[in-house]
Amino acid sequence: MLEHRKFYIDGAWVAPKDGQDLEVIDPSTEEACAVISLGGQADTDAAVAAAKAALHDFMYSDPSKRLALVKRILEVYNKRGEDMGRAISMEMGAPIDMAMSSQVGAGTFHIENFIRDFDKIEFIAPLSDDAPNDRIIREAVGVCALITPWNWPMNQVTLKVIAALLAGCTMVLKPSEIAPLSGIVWAEILDEAGVPKGVFNLVNGDGPGVGTQLSGHPDVDMVSFTGSGRAGKAISKNAADTFKRVHLELGGKGANVIFADADEKAVKRGAMHCFNNTGQSCNAPTRMLVERSVYDRAVETAAQVAEQTRVASAHESGKHIGPLVSQAQFDKVQDLIQKGIDEGARLVAGGVGRPDGLNRGYYVRPTVFADVSNDMTIAREEIFGPVLSIIPFEGEDQAISIANDTDYGLTNYVQSQDGAKRNRVARRLRAGMIEMNGTSRGRGAPFGGMKASGIGREGGIFGIEEFLEVKAVSGWSNEAD
Ligand code: NAD
Repeated sequence: MLEHRKFYIDGAWVAPKDGQDLEVIDPSTEEACAVISLGGQADTDAAVAAAKAALHDFMYSDPSKRLALVKRILEVYNKRGEDMGRAISMEMGAPIDMAMSSQVGAGTFHIENFIRDFDKIEFIAPLSDDAPNDRIIREAVGVCALITPWNWPMNQVTLKVIAALLAGCTMVLKPSEIAPLSGIVWAEILDEAGVPKGVFNLVNGDGPGVGTQLSGHPDVDMVSFTGSGRAGKAISKNAADTFKRVHLELGGKGANVIFADADEKAVKRGAMHCFNNTGQSCNAPTRMLVERSVYDRAVETAAQVAEQTRVASAHESGKHIGPLVSQAQFDKVQDLIQKGIDEGARLVAGGVGRPDGLNRGYYVRPTVFADVSNDMTIAREEIFGPVLSIIPFEGEDQAISIANDTDYGLTNYVQSQDGAKRNRVARRLRAGMIEMNGTSRGRGAPFGGMKASGIGREGGIFGIEEFLEVKAVSGWSNEAD
């Protein structure tokens, strides 16, 4: 079994001062595959102190040096792609081919986009022609706590760490204790790339321990968090006493509005997207809203997609989906599928229990419910499993009203060949992102949500700006420029 008890603090791997062992479970086998240490207050304090000591020099460093550093990180990240893919696959159950391509690739994509957009940030700029002696200075927020989940580990880690580095912040990363192995590879990458000591620190731990210690720490200026609404609320409350900036990327209950004039692949595409990563994506299109005239055909197609979706071990090569991440997620998804049945939704594929032939591992059956009404639990709660709820609608207004009738507002999807209708609907949907006709968002587009889906944006210049303070200076001497 792998042993990874050490933390990365002040540029070195150090033994925990206050740690407790935790076994990392491989969700494909339910066997322990590694042991880590959950840190305590003394470890959190040491990491925050290192980040604080490194702040002055790093925040006032030349931005071009930070850009060069991030370019070196990208080189080492690409070199370590295989180690990273294996770590992700083992810790959270993404099938190995998918882990190597999509999971590792998400990190590459974000780092490249940050590099591409970095020159657009004006660290010092005039206010306006009317105020020639004013300058707007953008500077690092300070010491940041970065708390990440297990579902897309490198997606979330790169969105936070790289943006914070480019802004000039120093940081403590606490990856999910359920999926900490990729975080360890990540710290090795940053070490090899030559990140100055103290700028990046990693402490493993859980929410009640290191997570809470970071969100309440007097020397932490900002918390950037991705995960559940429950933890997001706890972090916000705990951070309030010390007036920290809090950035939250929470869950979703994405509506995929399929009009009768949608392209013929729209339903298949939507169902496959819902099941991707075993449904463990905050932007998954989990509510499929279908216009009544094409509803029966859509239900049939979605059920076929579920039946054709193979479920197997993450260690097997191929295009299947893997297990859920943990026993807790398995139990939660089973309960929600049962609730769907109990509340009267029509089960057209999948259901409770494991797929045939899989008796060990957190495997669930790709599941489709039809005739779902938007007030059922399966339409309201984020399930975080491969479970699709299909809801019929009549006309544009009803589609928009069902789509917006949710606590969440992360990503919505629209499928129609009528461009004017698509644009109208996109403007009226209350969500941070709208993706239409299968077109993904472009490089550098902001990722984030409204309402219970969070506060703030990640990616591109929007993501770097989250880690910057804006300072207004008057009486600036133009002669000294
Ligand atoms: P979680 O929110 O408990 O964990 C995410 C991260 O937050 C982990 O690093 C965890 O250690 C930390 N954390 C937990 N409680 C904390 C606290 N009080 N203070 C500081 N840090 C804390 O998520 P989970 O329990 O792993 O998953 C539960 C549900 O959350 C899922 O079913 C899903 O609905 C949702 N989720 C959403 C996302 C997303 O991308 N939006 C990611 C993971 C989970």
